Order: sequence, then structure tokens, then C-alpha cells
Amino acid sequence: MSRPEYSRQGEEIRILDEKTVNQIAAGEVVERPASIVKELIENAIDAGATDVTIAIRAGRTDITSITVTDDGIGMRKGDIPLAFTPHATSKIRSADDLSRCISLGFRGEALASIASVACVTLRTRARGRDSSTGEEPENGSEYIISAGQVISAREIGSPAGTSIGIENIFYNTPARKKFQKTVATETARIADVIEGFAILYPSITFRYRLNKVLKISTHGCSTLKEVLQTLYPADMQHMIPLSRKRDGMGLTGYISLPSLYRQSSRRIMISVNGRRIQSLSIQQAIRRGYHTLLMPKLFPVAILGISLNPADVDVNVHPTKREVRFSYEPAVLSAISETVEETLFAQNLIPVSSAKPIFLSLPDRQDETQKELPQPPRTEKEPVLYRNYQQQVTPAFAESGVYEVSPVRLRRSGYQLRQTQLPCTNSVPVHDIPRLIYIGQIDATYLVASTAEGGMVLVDQHAAHERIRFDQIRMAANESPQSQELIVPRILSLSLPETAVMRNALPVLAEIGFIIESFGKDTYQVRAVPVMLNRQEEIGIIHEILDALIEEKIKKPEMMRDVIERMIACRGAIKAGTILLPHQAEELLSQLVQTTAPYTCPHGRPTMIQFPASHLQKMFHRI
Ligand code: ADP
Ligand code: MG
Repeated sequence: MSRPEYSRQGEEIRILDEKTVNQIAAGEVVERPASIVKELIENAIDAGATDVTIAIRAGRTDITSITVTDDGIGMRKGDIPLAFTPHATSKIRSADDLSRCISLGFRGEALASIASVACVTLRTRARGRDSSTGEEPENGSEYIISAGQVISAREIGSPAGTSIGIENIFYNTPARKKFQKTVATETARIADVIEGFAILYPSITFRYRLNKVLKISTHGCSTLKEVLQTLYPADMQHMIPLSRKRDGMGLTGYISLPSLYRQSSRRIMISVNGRRIQSLSIQQAIRRGYHTLLMPKLFPVAILGISLNPADVDVNVHPTKREVRFSYEPAVLSAISETVEETLFAQNLIPVSSAKPIFLSLPDRQDETQKELPQPPRTEKEPVLYRNYQQQVTPAFAESGVYEVSPVRLRRSGYQLRQTQLPCTNSVPVHDIPRLIYIGQIDATYLVASTAEGGMVLVDQHAAHERIRFDQIRMAANESPQSQELIVPRILSLSLPETAVMRNALPVLAEIGFIIESFGKDTYQVRAVPVMLNRQEEIGIIHEILDALIEEKIKKPEMMRDVIERMIACRGAIKAGTILLPHQAEELLSQLVQTTAPYTCPHGRPTMIQFPASHLQKMFHRI
């Protein structure tokens, strides 16, 4: 994730020519306090700092001051006024340099813009020059500028490096000041900016103080992993490294296991050639790599560094340099999805139970303390502490009064399993899943298995079977759809919205194995259904499919196909509450581990939870 060395090599600051100025679209660089912090940190990094301190003071309604101090190369007295002149930069000479620009700043806009909307106090001293040039080190300088007017300029004693203090932020632009969010929002953004730099520059020490309280502190000279461990100690247990170098593009970083996720994409941090960027398309590419491992609408946590030939990236799309354009965007995006997928699927992704001992205390007396105990979360089913076995059986069985395994039911589930047998091809993915030895069934819903290492794995039989069926449907549909003809074709009469959707859905349904013909204005005849649906009454699923497509406003054929395949997978899967014979359960487990993504059902719910041997030992205080 590191940036190629940038060296200023004593180049003087100069004003860009007018052509160059026009080629660099001018814009609002400092729209809010967090963007001031970003610009100042970039300058410190460009100055070769190894230690950057950010101090913020905030009152109840406002951020009152921002100070960024660095130990970089500092500024020579003569250069200071130019640094505050618009489009003065020491970093590029002409627009041609933009294509190979590797410094963070290059517009020469930040200091000038900041000094026009706030009061800036600059204290700086240039580092002693190379002894070979024989140049004498200068004294330090203090330079105060407010609303573009120089207030004072004098020599001072100062450590080498630069400290820039900003006060009265936006005092002369009340409109912008009014638009500032609450102090809490703004300081959260500032912390986010600083975390981003700390992650991108593990070799630099960053310290962030808010009203003198140390909020962030990294150690410098660290690896990416060490910085992440410092910043997000709890999350790192659920993060795995990612790396790939191919076709002139490098990807490095960390991505979360499916056990760690967020409701928003805020914790996806992307950088291109050491520059943090925002990119919806890259966020989506990362998300795609997770497939169904995450429930829809959830996002992973990811730190992704992309390195590319600078000539293939355009960073000059936006004044804050937060967006970029790639020359070969589709290739970049698919490489990202693939790498995320490969990285994840090489792992054992079965969620691990918490190792905290759980003591079951049964309420015998209703005393005061008992009343105050938090109630365990209620699931659909009551905990089965005192229920006898009969009550755990499906309602259909229980109603008959006498517990008797219905042979019809068992035969049916046996049939389903045979039918979903996955062909053993070489393309069967290899997962890092322990071998599962079937032990028994709980509540006619969960399968208990042990692993060779002495751990325990619980499997949700419905979710597992759904996953198996989903893979099966996918595989069949990629070859040729398998239909079974209905003995008596069934007539479907559709509502108006259903008819509208049906027209688009018809080719997709045909791909999956439904043979449906138009039979008049809003009437269709169903002649065959996919083999995966083995009961004629299942044509009711067509109404459900159309309703889902209407409700989710799905129009793209590949999205439709995805929804339909999930629904069929779910429809024919063994339900919770079905008793399985041992050989059926064993079959289910062995088929599950051969699927492409055995860890979740197609809707993203887990299929398995593991209790490693070490956790069992801890729970029983054996270690
Ligand atoms: P840019 O970073 O795009 O060049 P800025 O307005 O941010 O433009 O800075 C103008 C110039 O001031 C920089 O090119 C650099 O020479 C000098 N400068 C700014 N901040 C620092 C710093 N912290 N240390 C050394 N020089 C700095
Ligand atoms: Mg800058």
C-alpha cells in the first residue's frame, strides 16, 4: 500500500502557467473542517514527515481550531508567501506531470483557499541543507495570514518541520459555516480522515487529540497489520489479508470474514496508488466477491489498496481528488471481485460459537432477582428444556397423538436428497471444512456433527439443503434446463401487474425449465416445471415469483434469474421439523461440503456454526 518515494529535491515553488491553471479545474477544496485536515495532512506527508500530530479544539457548536504539526522538510522563508498564492506548488510544473504525479498535492490550492476563509498561523523551519552544498540552515519563521491578508511575518525559533494552526474557520463565509453539521458529525469525519491516512502510511506516526484528549495514536514504522490492530483491535480477529499481483495491477489489504459486517459501506476504505478515493463501483465489486455470504443490504469491512500504473488512472476528476477514473475499469472491477472471492473461499468460513460459558439457570422460585434477569431472546420455538420428544416433532405428527414416523414423509425427503445429488466433477471447490461425522438431530431442525479434531458443528438442515439445491439449479441451468411435463397442463390467470411482469420473465422462466405458453390476454398455460420442483401444486410458486419481482422492482434478466433460483431452492428444501434418518443426514452433510459456498444459504443465512474443541474445553473449564 505504500506510495512510491516522492522527493522534492529542493525544487523551488513556482506559479503555474495559465494554460496549466485552466487544465486543472479550480474548485472548492475546503468545504468543511475535515477537508482542511485532509489537505494539511497531505502537505505534511508530501513534505516527508514521519510524525504528524493533529490537534482539534471544539466547543459545543463549532470546531474552533485545527493544528497540524509535522517533522517534514519545512519551508524556507522566501517560499512562504508563494505557498499561500493560488496555484503555487512545488510539486508539478505542467499538466504533463499530472499523468506521473505521485505526490498527494499538486494543485497549489489548499493553503491559498484555507487562508481565504480562516486565520492561519504558520510556524516552520526548513531542515538543514545537505552539508555538500554548504548552505546554512535558516531560522524558523512565523507567518500569520487572515482572509488572504498577511497579518505578521517574523523570524522565530522553531523545531525543523511545519506547524499550521487554523482558527476562525469560515468566519467570513457564514453560508458555509451554517452548513456545517454538528460538532460530533464533523469530528467523526475528521477521525475518519486521520484513520485513513494512518492506514495508508503505517510508517508514519499519527496522533489525534480532540480537546487535548488523545483519540488516535499509531506508532509509525509499523506494518499495515499492526496499524489495523492498533486502530480496530476487536475487528481484526475477523479480518483476513488479501493480496494479488497480476496484469500490471496490485491489490493488497484486509477484508472481513462474513462474521463481521456493517449496515453501511462506510468501513470500506479504498486507495489507488496511495491516495484514498471514493468509488461506488469498487465498493460494489468488493461486495460482489462475497456473493451470498452476506445478507443483502449488509456490507463487509475492507481496506483495499490498488496499485496501478499512474498513467492508467486519472486522479484529476474532482478538486478534492476523491474520485478517480481508470483506463480499464471493467478489468479492474472484475479483478477485485475475483480476488475477494478467492481470498474468502480459501478460508474455513463456518462461524464460531462464542467461547463464553453459558450456564442454564432454571427459574424455580419467582423471587426479585429472577424477575430482573434479562430474558433470553425468544426464537420461533420455545427452548426445549422440558418438552418431550413428541412435542418436538412437526405439528402434523404431533396432532396424530401417537408418535409415529410417517413413512410417506421420510420417503419424500429421501427422494429430494437423491435428486439433488451433486455430480462429482473436478470443478468441485475445495474448502477448508473439517470432515463432519454425523451424530444426531435436534428438534428435527439442526444436525449435530463432530469433527475429527473433537469439535462440534451444528447445521441448519433447511439452510443446508437450500444451498445444495441452489447449486444444483445453477449447475443444471448452465447446461440445459431440466423440465418435467405436467400430466395435465395447468392454467394460470394473472392479475394486471403480474401479466406485465410475466412478459419479461417468460424467457428467464424458460431458461430455468418452466414451459409456459400465452393462452390469451392474461392467461397462461403451464406445460412443464423444472425437475427441481417435484410436485404439480408447486405452480403456485409462479405467482410468488411474479409477486417478488413486482415488489422488488426487478427488471434485469440476470437479477430475475437469481431471485427465481433462490425461490425454487427454498421451496423444495427440507423444512425445519422434518425428521431425517441417519443416512439422509449424512448424505446432506456430505453434499453440503461439496457446494460452492457451503457456509450460507442463498439468502446469506449461515448453514453451520462450529464449536471448536478448544471452545468446548473452555466452556467446561477443562483448560
Ligand atoms: P499543493 O500541496 O497542491 O502544492 P498547497 O496549497 O497545499 O498546494 O501547498 C502549497 C505549497 O506549500 C506546497 O507545494 C509546498 O511547497 C508548501 N507546503 C505546504 N505545506 C507544507 C508542509 N507541511 N511542509 C512543507 N511545505 C509545505
Ligand atoms: Mg497540498
